[in-house]
Amino acid sequence: MTLSQQLREAGEKATPGAWASDGTVSFSDRPDLPCVFDEHRMIVAQLWDDGHTDDECEANAALIVALHNSAPAMIARLRYLETENSRLREDLADSYVKLSGVSDHASDCATSSAPAITPGPCDCAVADSVRSRRINGLEVIRDVNPAIASVALLQETARAALGEPQ
Ligand SMILES: [Zn+2]
Repeated sequence: MTLSQQLREAGEKATPGAWASDGTVSFSDRPDLPCVFDEHRMIVAQLWDDGHTDDECEANAALIVALHNSAPAMIARLRYLETENSRLREDLADSYVKLSGVSDHASDCATSSAPAITPGPCDCAVADSVRSRRINGLEVIRDVNPAIASVALLQETARAALGEPQ
């Protein structure tokens, strides 16, 4: 379950409508403590001063109200970003697959991790015949360090140009 789904579920169970806070709506036994109340001026919560200053209590009440009242917009924005992030991860995985030059990858390959986590370059152990490709007539193994492969390719190309045995 995504964070936006968790927040939406929690919000659906909470008292609906806009909330507010002020010091004039309080329990009678502690009228000095701020309360959060719903749109019918029914008390939802009272803030307590256990180790908190009066200013902190007021700020905490204001924060609860602000978070509750902006929750629908924040959840919608979060849902949008979660969806966009999944799409971008899928696009990134497609790019890594294209860069690898092969279409078949193990299920635990870094290219297969989207959209759950950010994908990475191919790190799976597929058959050598699949991992290799031909460049300028030479077979290059893909999981070799590219710098080493380039040197080997240059050496083989030079030998071929000079007519030396491969
Ligand atoms: Zn792979």
